Amino acid sequence: MARVAIGGFQHETNTFAPSKADYAAFEAGGGWPGVQYGEPIFAAVEGANIPAAGAIQTLRALGHTLVGTAWAAASPSAHVTADAFERITGELVKRLSSLLPVDGVYLDLHGAMVVETYDDGEGELLRRVREVVGPRVPVVASLDLHANVTHAMLEQADGLVAYRTYPHVDMAATGARAARLLDQIMRTGERPKRGFHQLSYLTGIPSQCSFIEPCKGIYEELERLEMRTGAVLSFTPGFPMADFADCGMAVFGYGSPAAVDELRGAVADAEKDFALELHDAPDAVRRARTRGEPGAPVVLADTQDNPGAGGNGDTTGLLRSLIEQNAQDAVLGMLIDAPSAQRAHEVGQGNTSVFSLGGLSRIPGDRPLSGEFTVEQLGDGRFTCTGPMFKGFRMTLGPMALLRSRAAPGVRMVLASRKCQAADQEMFRHVGVEPRKKRIVALKSSVHFRADFEPIAKEVLVVKSPGPALADPAEFQWTKLRKGVRLRPLGPARA
Ligand SMILES: [Zn+2]
Repeated sequence: MARVAIGGFQHETNTFAPSKADYAAFEAGGGWPGVQYGEPIFAAVEGANIPAAGAIQTLRALGHTLVGTAWAAASPSAHVTADAFERITGELVKRLSSLLPVDGVYLDLHGAMVVETYDDGEGELLRRVREVVGPRVPVVASLDLHANVTHAMLEQADGLVAYRTYPHVDMAATGARAARLLDQIMRTGERPKRGFHQLSYLTGIPSQCSFIEPCKGIYEELERLEMRTGAVLSFTPGFPMADFADCGMAVFGYGSPAAVDELRGAVADAEKDFALELHDAPDAVRRARTRGEPGAPVVLADTQDNPGAGGNGDTTGLLRSLIEQNAQDAVLGMLIDAPSAQRAHEVGQGNTSVFSLGGLSRIPGDRPLSGEFTVEQLGDGRFTCTGPMFKGFRMTLGPMALLRSRAAPGVRMVLASRKCQAADQEMFRHVGVEPRKKRIVALKSSVHFRADFEPIAKEVLVVKSPGPALADPAEFQWTKLRKGVRLRPLGPARA
């Protein structure tokens, strides 16, 4: 039986996004539990599909005693402020030193955090944790599939284990895998041999879905290699919106550097298969109007304003196309617009008023959408998700509302006050909409929606409308990315 310290600090940083993650963003959590210190961590994550929850359950089942340090997560956005990083990391490290001696440390990290003061947020966090526990205590972290993995992270940790599903239905399962690796190192005292390679091309996030090729096949290959060699392997397609040297795809693993090499080969060979079909908003709506039917809606993914990739969920391009084309049985969600949601509550259910919707982030090419809308339903934003990915997440999205366009009465939109990706049908049911019954369901999401919405969708179209989470990484103005990396599959290399 060992004494294990538990902590976590998750952020996915889109350095091109309009707003930063300050301490208040980690208090809000953005769909995740708000920041927790000490013992309350355990209750806050329990029962949810969260890495720390899976790790805690597994370590307890193995008979270990757990102590809590700090755990925090926020919606993806631009940089984590220096203040938020120092307060949360400071508390984590301070509590960890007061809990010594410990036999092991488990950390629930994302792996794509850029801080105002550190390009490699997790590398710095792991360095400080290592400084406290010394070289002999094993430190193992779970990572998101969108981790941008760095040499510093690999060197400071004894084990890194990433999700292998996108949508991330295996977050808790990955925590459990990390916990088993930590347990193995604590028991044997041996560090399995490690391998690590960064790949030399970027891929847009819509083509990283593990339900579809090439990722489906790569993860199958990864599991075959694990079965054959006994290694613990990870492939992280990365988060191609963080402008720093180590942004991009990586493979790494423990127990068989040769297996890591083979996995690198599989990812390198798949480059051409990562290309993706994108539709502009008017074309996508035209197609969805003729193809969608109640019971089998066409799902439109407004990928470039995905709150799960740094968007604020407030652009109006796709909504404008739905209204202009007078779409029938159409719903868009969630438009994150706190002032309009508040106003809907003042206007009252059943009443009609003029609203100016969205456009709050002033994204180039985007503007607020004005018109008359009827308030059909109101909600307090408190509900529990039921889909495969967000299962058990207790949402607190602030005032919510369902509005209906007067100009195009077949178009409805779900408003929420706090940022969260539209990846669970409960976000619609909370204000009285059953997504399956619609002809068109438009979502502020890139891929996570597929876990809960693809089973009801006739087809999925990925839409390219103005937003800060560009589907094609080659369109960003890269300044810090290491030279030689191709900015899209088979695309131009960074000079
Ligand atoms: Zn992710």
